[in-house]
Amino acid sequence: SRHLLDVRDLRVEFHTHDGVVRALNGVSYYVNAGESLAVLGESGSGKSVSAQAIMGILDTPPAKVAGGTIRYRGEDMLTMREDQRRRIRGAEIAMVFQDALSALNPVFTVGFQISENLRRRLGMSKSDAYRRAVELMDLVRIPAAKDRVKDFPHQFSGGMRQRVMIAMALALDPAVLIADEPTTALDVTVQAQIMDLLADLRRDLDMALILITHDLGVVADVADRIAVMYAGRIVENANVHDLYSNPGHPYTEGLLASIPRVDLKGQQLKSIKGMPPNMLHPPSGCPFHPRCTYAQDICTQEDPPLRDVGVQRSSACHYAEEVLDGARD
Ligand code: SF4
Ligand code: MG
Repeated sequence: SRHLLDVRDLRVEFHTHDGVVRALNGVSYYVNAGESLAVLGESGSGKSVSAQAIMGILDTPPAKVAGGTIRYRGEDMLTMREDQRRRIRGAEIAMVFQDALSALNPVFTVGFQISENLRRRLGMSKSDAYRRAVELMDLVRIPAAKDRVKDFPHQFSGGMRQRVMIAMALALDPAVLIADEPTTALDVTVQAQIMDLLADLRRDLDMALILITHDLGVVADVADRIAVMYAGRIVENANVHDLYSNPGHPYTEGLLASIPRVDLKGQQLKSIKGMPPNMLHPPSGCPFHPRCTYAQDICTQEDPPLRDVGVQRSSACHYAEEVLDGARD
């Protein structure tokens, strides 16, 4: 089957003074048109690195894409001509970063920044591009867009600035929007509003959405499927409902136990013991074994491959069946 965006066996290395960090160890995921995928993981898990590879932000040292493919409409972006790649990045696949304040230029109006790509890449006239910028600001629900198009970034609240970033990303009508921790810097109420906005835009514009987040609590209402990352690999793939109702990897189970759930009465919140691995010296065998309550001897020796454990779900755990059976709950 041919997916809209299909990342396969992606390997990314960072060559540092202290050694090679294998930030991605064969990561695979895909999205189809109009679909929403959450890529979930702690900081350092590699979740942002995969998006950076798609957007070409890793094309220079010390980062190195060491293997794999990133197919967009069937064509591998890693081997296609540079001009083709440039046409896709920013236009077909657009990205929203977590820190709107540093991503926006303080000396230009938001209207100028939103309309920049329309002028530069579509050759729109200045006045048409501004008109379109106002429409885009309306689309992301910035109140009184017409009056605010000539305002500067510092005149907007954090949440409104993030909407400006989303408007910029939508300017060229992308088929895929990648949002990397789009709400991390915002307070909880504003976070929820931005997530609602992304969910609505995805539906209304029939756009694929890849939401990169460390927060399992925010993905349920936005994503169709989840890819859970740990130590530079995907440890579980499932649709949101299956993953919430019955996690198939001990790490996912730990994450679920650590977030408040409205569907579980009298739930006791538990955090996962231990720390994420040092990626310069990752643990032997399964990288999760030092933190895993299911771990057996084999786990310290054999790295479990990601394997199918149900319909459209996979897990990288030697004991996935036991975890799914929930014999220990
Ligand atoms: Fe835990 Fe072993 Fe499964 Fe790794 S393979 S998650 S250590 S049970
Ligand atoms: Mg990140």
